[in-house]
Amino acid sequence: MVVVNARRCPQNHRCPSLRVCPTGALKQSGIGAPTVDSELCIDCGKCIAYCPMSALVGDVRKAGQR
Ligand code: SF4
Repeated sequence: MVVVNARRCPQNHRCPSLRVCPTGALKQSGIGAPTVDSELCIDCGKCIAYCPMSALVGDVRKAGQR
């Protein structure tokens, strides 16, 4: 699953990655750091590639298995 690194997210804007998530797994309350719904995330990686701050990262354990 995707992990949000809130320290990399400036938390001052609407997350642009929300609109590229095909399942609606990425959610945001206000302009805070987004969260990932593990039930909905299919690990497609689109949000990771889209975030300009590299605040969204793949699960390291899973990444090592690929
Ligand atoms: S990896 Fe894909 S499904 Fe998961 S939160 Fe990112 S865009 Fe959505």
